[in-house]
Amino acid sequence: MKRSLSLSGIPVSPGIAVGRAAVWIGRPDSTPRRDLDSVEVPVELERLRLAVESGIREIGEMAAQVEVRLGKEYAAIFQAHALFLRDPSFLGPIEKKIRTEKVNAEWAVEVVAENLASRLRDLPDKDLALRASDLDDVASILKRSLGEGGAAIERLTTLTGDPCVLVADELTPSDAVRIPRDKVVAFVTERGGKTSHAAILARSFGLPAVVAVPKLLASIGDGDRLIVDGREGVVWREPSEDVLSLFRERQGREATREISLKERSLSGLARTRDGEDVAIRANIELAREVTDVFEYGADGVGLFRSEFLYLSSEGVEFPDEATQAAIYRQVVSTLAPRPVVIRTYDLGGKKGARHLSGAEENPVLGLRGVRLCFSHPEMFRTQLRALLSVASAGDLRILVPMVAGVEEVRRVRSFVEEAREELVERGIEVPDSVPIGAMIEVPSAAITADLIAPEVDFLSLGTNDLIQYTLAADRANEAVSDIFRPHHPAILRLVAKVQEAAVAAGKPLAVCGEMAADPALFLLLLGLGIREFSMGPRSVPLLKDVARCASAVDAARMARAALSLSTPDDVAALLSREAEAILSGDPETRAAVNS
Ligand code: PEP
Ligand code: MG
Repeated sequence: MKRSLSLSGIPVSPGIAVGRAAVWIGRPDSTPRRDLDSVEVPVELERLRLAVESGIREIGEMAAQVEVRLGKEYAAIFQAHALFLRDPSFLGPIEKKIRTEKVNAEWAVEVVAENLASRLRDLPDKDLALRASDLDDVASILKRSLGEGGAAIERLTTLTGDPCVLVADELTPSDAVRIPRDKVVAFVTERGGKTSHAAILARSFGLPAVVAVPKLLASIGDGDRLIVDGREGVVWREPSEDVLSLFRERQGREATREISLKERSLSGLARTRDGEDVAIRANIELAREVTDVFEYGADGVGLFRSEFLYLSSEGVEFPDEATQAAIYRQVVSTLAPRPVVIRTYDLGGKKGARHLSGAEENPVLGLRGVRLCFSHPEMFRTQLRALLSVASAGDLRILVPMVAGVEEVRRVRSFVEEAREELVERGIEVPDSVPIGAMIEVPSAAITADLIAPEVDFLSLGTNDLIQYTLAADRANEAVSDIFRPHHPAILRLVAKVQEAAVAAGKPLAVCGEMAADPALFLLLLGLGIREFSMGPRSVPLLKDVARCASAVDAARMARAALSLSTPDDVAALLSREAEAILSGDPETRAAVNS
């Protein structure tokens, strides 16, 4: 047995988990070419035939799992995958290549699939172009069935056996959303940051997680026994029995504390000690998280990241208008009369959809969010029609991501009007005023918030991206995690400026970035005048408690002092001192904040 070892990283999702490591190396990047002797050719063709059969089986299993997790309409997208594996115009050229060029099947699959996919991508018909990503997926399935890759886990969605600790170099948002929750108890990655989407999903799913662990993959092997401490950011390999029992005790204590926090959270809106009402809503990625909104006592949904409808569906087609409308209606009507803020697709950047944005040198500064929607007007109009068509089911508010200036707001408004007219022509009733809001997450939008605020119905501060773009520090890159700090005076000043603009225009302002879920930073935001917040559902109970123990006047005093400081360290030191004092009236909340 390996000796005991502890590794440290960035804690991104609290909780303690114990399990065996399952190392996942992601999709293999490239396939080696092997030249065959003539006698090997029939053997290779037979390997291909068997791989096709196993691929068809795998797709069937995936479809069944997706049907259980996400519903029938998502399972249908795998039909296209299976069709490729039965299509002679795909398989024929692969066989021909093996026969005439005498090359290994993996190589033949890769070359033929790439060729066909790039021809599909060049077609003007967008539906056909979308098939290219199906084909990429099918090629990966075939190559895996041929035995390529050698990863300990071949596919996240088909993890079997006892629940494990997923160990990986990095998880993309679409990897993270597909983690089977009953098969994974925690995850640990060598790269990543606290506000990366994988980390946000871990918190939403209640999975303890630690990221940015140096030398993780060199230190952990498949099957090693691990403890993951998602609060302290520590991973133990092969812990001793003494260490294990200490962690089990802590696990029990944390569970008891969470139950009492949850009970208190269910008792309605939070009000500060000096009588200020504070709304604390949930950020969700999937429609099924509506149950968490109730379970954790959130006051509605402050951010539904609708792009996960696409990211969770194995990167193929977008759900059509009727499918989207059904999902939005379910969320909006289940939560009515509570507000539900649905954000239009924020794809691009690190969130998939390369077939829409094309290869970009710098995708995070490229066709992301509303920019990508403008460049695919039909996709945008379809989503807006789906949204508007369910507006009468409850309190729906539409939020637009990555707004950089007021002209984009105007352009969105004309898209909304067009979508409304199309619905009215079809005889579908749309309420007169569905609120349209802008995310303030690009520095130019924060600086011109006074111009944007009068033209929207509400604003929502996306501090994750606002920090990333203001400080020029990638939110998912551990190498700059010490620069990515909400405490930076530039961030404090921008938030204060946006709040001032919202008040002047008489428009509500919420904070939906992760900053709001940190108790001390929450108090700072409260002190800057913010009264609406949203965060992962599991963070809601603690922050409701914090709001109830706080006084808005004390928080405002702390915010004024923070605004006068010059470094993030000074701000952090002030907040930890003052937050302690502000919460001193309630020992239980203080214990929860400090645990
Ligand atoms: C943000 O940027 O703060 C935000 C809430 O959106 P996302 O994390 O999805 O980019
Ligand atoms: Mg954002």
